Amino acid sequence: MFENLTGRLSDVIKTLKGEARLTENNIQKALREVRLALLEADVALPVVKEFIARVKEKAVGHEVMSSLTPGQALVGVVQQELIAIMGGDKADLNLSTTPPAVILMAGLQGAGKTTSSGKLAKWLMEHKKKKVLLVSCDIYRPAAIHQLELLANQTGADFFPVQSNQKPGEIGTAALDYARKHHHDVMIVDTAGRLGIDEAMMQEISELERLLNPIETLFVVDAMQGQDAVNTAKAFSEALPLTGVVLTKLDGDARGGAALSVKHITGKPIKFTGIAEKLTGIEAFYPDRMASRILG
Ligand code: GDP
Repeated sequence: MFENLTGRLSDVIKTLKGEARLTENNIQKALREVRLALLEADVALPVVKEFIARVKEKAVGHEVMSSLTPGQALVGVVQQELIAIMGGDKADLNLSTTPPAVILMAGLQGAGKTTSSGKLAKWLMEHKKKKVLLVSCDIYRPAAIHQLELLANQTGADFFPVQSNQKPGEIGTAALDYARKHHHDVMIVDTAGRLGIDEAMMQEISELERLLNPIETLFVVDAMQGQDAVNTAKAFSEALPLTGVVLTKLDGDARGGAALSVKHITGKPIKFTGIAEKLTGIEAFYPDRMASRILG
């Protein structure tokens, strides 16, 4: 990921070699390159514009300390703004509620909801020592329910058995009773996804959200979708009170633009990234570490 972005930014820095300070003129050339690099990385246009404006404001007239080259000074500003655009501080998963803490997983089909539910269960068991119940409300795809059951078996999380003919709302409330009775700390609810956003899907997940009152409603989105990921994120964030984002398949995305756009567009922080297909392929998201990775 960020293959071109990293390379392009280091080229920009080289162009500033020998300059005594950052000026309107030399910054202009550099910023044009940064802008192109971001667009090539598939960062959403409004995000690029905002980003460039902020870097410009901070960088012009910036006195270069004798220990820094102008290129390094610009990198410093770019780094700060990369962190800021990704949300600044790390956003932790919020579990502070009377157990079970319900985590609702939303997103399009194929985004990685079921896989991420399994990964998150494993992460919570290993890193937070939580007792986790996995619940599937994807009644339209028995294969998806089975997939989650397999993931539960692989991770050692508990799995809520679904009765045939139960509606998603019925499954959700029955699972909540079950989780209370069996003292689960966290209940992760996987939901049905569609290939596109449609009214029926949004209504169903909104109803589940109202019934279960989740402490976290995570939007799962495939980084490889680039700009489309951002548009989908916007639609979901308008329909549901999202609390965060899981950005999957970062391992498959050479450009990485979605990582920079999602927070700015939805107002919700990325909480986790998917970095491999396997169950350990999930990482908590740190804006500062991601910024360092981008700058190479
Ligand atoms: P859902 O329809 O949203 O539940 O999507 P799935 O969980 O079934 O995932 C769709 C596909 O994406 C599966 O083949 C997963 O193995 C794959 N996948 C999910 N997350 C990641 C990830 O972070 N990296 C990679 N490489 N593949 C992933």
